Amino acid sequence: MNYHVDDKGYYGDFGGAYIPEMLYPNVAELKERYLEIMNDTEFKKEFDQLLRDYVGRPSPLYLARRLSEKHGCRIYLKREDLNHTGAHKVNNTIGQILLAKRLGKKRIIAETGAGQHGVATATVCALMGIECVVYMGEIDIKRQAPNVARMKMLGARVVPATSGSKTLKDATNEAIRDWINNPVDTHYIIGSAIGPHPYPDMVTRFQSIISEEIKWQLKEQEGRENPDYVAACIGGGSNAAGTYYHYLDNPDVGIIAVEAAGKGIDSGESAATSILGKEGIIHGCKTLLMQTDDGQITEPYSISAGLDYPGVGPMHAHLYRSGRGTFVSVTDDEAMQAGLELAKTEGIIPAIETSHALAIFNHMKFKPDDVLVINLSGRGDKDLNTYIDYFNL
Ligand SMILES: *Cc1c(COP(=O)(O)O)cnc(C)c1O
Repeated sequence: MNYHVDDKGYYGDFGGAYIPEMLYPNVAELKERYLEIMNDTEFKKEFDQLLRDYVGRPSPLYLARRLSEKHGCRIYLKREDLNHTGAHKVNNTIGQILLAKRLGKKRIIAETGAGQHGVATATVCALMGIECVVYMGEIDIKRQAPNVARMKMLGARVVPATSGSKTLKDATNEAIRDWINNPVDTHYIIGSAIGPHPYPDMVTRFQSIISEEIKWQLKEQEGRENPDYVAACIGGGSNAAGTYYHYLDNPDVGIIAVEAAGKGIDSGESAATSILGKEGIIHGCKTLLMQTDDGQITEPYSISAGLDYPGVGPMHAHLYRSGRGTFVSVTDDEAMQAGLELAKTEGIIPAIETSHALAIFNHMKFKPDDVLVINLSGRGDKDLNTYIDYFNL
């Protein structure tokens, strides 16, 4: 079984590039050039240097002693929350902006839902002095005011998407329309391991620094490169893809994927995409997505804005269908409790997305000598108001 992308852009049954004909040249250019550019020595040097000096990598791999004691196994936390801008997303935006420069692009566009990817994109555009336009649903602009302010302060133009449900999928449509109109000078930075081929593979490779570091860090601390399990939360699937990447072909390492069950899998208000999803096309790729019987995409729901996505990246759809990954869905309540638990036992306040991954202990049992690495995808500062409201703090 192959868990990597094949030369046609598929992970098993999923992936591909389902795009309007007007975008063929843009996507073809990327497909032809991305591997050559990413493997170039000068490119790697610049990427590594920025990850080190700007993002603050390597991020620590931390043995969480009190949490381990509580759950009866050895739990390591990969501290992506300590990155500049507070999450893993910047690994990808740094990579893509360097790639855009190599392609001679002068302008960056992006779509954002909760605003986290918009901020990560605006950040690297400021860093490189490149024009940045971020499309965002009108409703999301109202809901996510602090991130809109951050983007503006970083010099980006935030353009409201006013059609449809005025949320992420409408912002995506606007971004695609922009790209069709500006095919030569513009690069579209997609924020997760989704989109038409080669985006899922490209984003996964930029995020694969996470598992590359886990391997040597675990070797130093445990005397072995391979944990028994790696676990991560899944929205579109970029932090998870990076966490799994160097372990995909090693059957000794269990892969755990945690999705947002919202108010419960059967409640009609959830984002448990793999478990509830059916095959369909979203964001230019074939994958599992939540839809009605006649193929309308269902609005997802999760207390965490970053997991509130109706689809899942094609790699994860394949990990689900092939059985390579164990998929768990965690409700809002379970996630909030797990976030509070981490704060109280380890002094770390996680992003609510990440809190979902920390709730796996409600669903899976581990042995005392099992080594489990959980990717701590982001920090909880942005979610403080949600924690305050939920716990009456
Ligand atoms: C955006 C985000 C996620 C979800 O996105 P993926 O592409 O699935 O990783 C998870 N955690 C945090 C902190 C995020 O900001």
